[in-house]
This record gives sequence, structure tokens and C-alpha cells, in this order.
Amino acid sequence: MSHHKIQGIKVHTVNIPTKAVHSHGSGDIAGIKSVLLEVTTDTGITGWGEASPWPVFTGTAEGNAGALHVYLRPHLIGQDPVLVEKHLFMADQVVVDCPEAKAALETALLDITGQIYGLPIAELVGGRHRDKIPLSFSVANPDFEKDLEDVDAMYQDGIRILKLKTGFKDHAFDLMRLEKFREKYGDTLSLRADYNQGLAAYDALRHVRDLEAFDLAFIEQPVKRHERDVLAAITKAVDTPVMADESVFNPREAMQAVQMGLCDIITLKIMKAGGIRRALEVAAIARTAGLETYGGCMFETGIAHAAGTHLVAALPDLKLGCEFYMSTYYITEDILTDPFPVRDGYVHVPTKPGLGVTVNREILEKYTQETLS
Ligand SMILES: [Mg+2]
Repeated sequence: MSHHKIQGIKVHTVNIPTKAVHSHGSGDIAGIKSVLLEVTTDTGITGWGEASPWPVFTGTAEGNAGALHVYLRPHLIGQDPVLVEKHLFMADQVVVDCPEAKAALETALLDITGQIYGLPIAELVGGRHRDKIPLSFSVANPDFEKDLEDVDAMYQDGIRILKLKTGFKDHAFDLMRLEKFREKYGDTLSLRADYNQGLAAYDALRHVRDLEAFDLAFIEQPVKRHERDVLAAITKAVDTPVMADESVFNPREAMQAVQMGLCDIITLKIMKAGGIRRALEVAAIARTAGLETYGGCMFETGIAHAAGTHLVAALPDLKLGCEFYMSTYYITEDILTDPFPVRDGYVHVPTKPGLGVTVNREILEKYTQETLS
């Protein structure tokens, strides 16, 4: 308990263009439409959180903005912000799904709590096990020449992990790109492939089998979210580790994944799980079952990236890195006053109390479409 009370809640919907169109097995992305949550206390503390949905994956910005503004607000005003689990429990009772809104709420509350007690979020959720995390960049440009240029620049920056978005064009295009990257960079790069549900269930396995020659760290979500039997069969059939992203959102689905031998790896995302603490529960289930995890994200600004960074920092055993690259390499302009901390191919874990990043009001205003307060 603290003597602080939640006084104000503002829900900003922003739309920030990206530097290029990125293609995925489940569709194209040309802008980041996020819901930024600003929570203030009667003692003058401000906490920030972000809900970054993708309509074909997790949900919509409008649905999450509505969840926060209409349904959750009345239960939060006047409440003690440090009672984070109490408020998350309430949120699950009041609104079904909308895990992105719940992630935003948790981030904002932890940001405030951290500022009250002088601790970064990583310390509040178990303590930091690392100061920096290897960063993966996703190659998803339909114009491959542009990707080659981008990757070259990032290689110079120290990036040594690449994730190819596959399954949005044709199989020959995917194999050609993998070949080119292996040819050019040899084994100095850790390569991964992500189908974003792009393969047809009936012949997915033979496509995945062809990728085994490229010594990939993992192959991610080849088939649709609900085709879990097919995903489990692929996991059993190939040697390359298979990662579930769209098929595992939360602790309940992680349990089911373990029970059915769905995958070798689970992508942790605060937007799927409903926040850092729920994602840590997914990680605990994975760890208990001998599965690996990975630091995933959606199309996010530096606010959600910072929250994801605190999550990954608090994992004692993460081997495969993270993909918080959007605010540095993909978005035209981030919302933070200082650049998101990427240096030498690593994301550096913020060390200031709370979230550890600050929102630039001018940039926020520039990209805000609507504010609900
Ligand atoms: Mg994915």
C-alpha cells in the first residue's frame, strides 16, 4: 500500500509512419498505430504504458482504447497505483481479452510504482539478470535489394541476428533470400525464419523441411494460430527448433502447448500475455517443461519496447535474444525524448526508476489522432 492515488487517465491513439512497408505471412505493415496510456497520481507522478495491437494477430487499437477509457477507468480512479496485481485481476474480470490494454495498464502502474520506490521495473518483477540483450532485426521488405542494403548497415552497427519474414511471396523467394544471407555473412549471423501463419496446413511440412539446410536458430509459426495439431506435427518432424508465436498468447495456452508438444520455443510478448508478469508466468511454464523462450514484440514505439526490455532483463535463462528494433530501425520517429537504448547490436536495459524512458510531448502531439480523457 502507498499513500498515492490514481487521479488522471489519458488514452492517446497515435499513428506513426514506418520507413518501409514490411510484408508478413499475415499481411503488410506501413505504420504503427498504438494506444499510449498516461496515468497520473494525486502526488504528481506520471506513468506511461502502451497497447500495440495488430488487427490480424492480437486485436484493434480502437478496441483497446475503449477497454481502457470506458471499462477500466472507473475501477482505477482513486485507487492505489502500487497494487498492480489487484488491478490486473480486476481488468480480467471487467474486460475479456484485450491483453494489449492490460499490458499498457500494467506498464503504467509499474512505471509509477518504480518511481515511488526508486527501482527500475526489472527490479520490481524479480531483478535484472542482464544489462544488455542481443538484438534481432526482421527482414520483411518485398523489395529484397532494399533489405540487403538495410542489413548491411545494421551489420556495420553490430547486429548479428536476422529474422526473415517468410511465406508472404513464394517458397523460391524465401530460399533465395536465405541462401544470399548465408553466402554473404556465413555463420557470423544467427538466422531465423518467421512465417507469421503463412503456410497452408496441408503442405507446410515440405516447405519447412527445405529450410533445415540453412542451420536456422528457429522456424516460427509456419501455420495458423488455431492449427495447433499441425504445428505439433511439424515440431516432431523436423530437427530445427520450432517456435510458437501466434499459437501461444498467455499462461493457459502455454500449458496447453506443453501438454500437446506444440513447439520447442515460445515467443514472449507482453501484448499477447497481458503484461510483463503474465509473460513471466509463460516463461515459468516453458522453463518447467524444458522449452526455450524469446523476447518478442509487436509493432511498437519505444514505450512498449522498454517494457519488453525489463521483461527480458528479468529472465535468468534467455538464450535467443530479442527483437525490439522498431523504434531504432523501423519507425520514422520515436515518441521518446532520448533514443531507445540500442548500441553495438544490443538493447541496453534502462537503469532509471520505473520504465526508465521519457515521452516527448511535442512528438506525441504530432502523431496523436485522438485523446480520450
Ligand atoms: Mg512472429
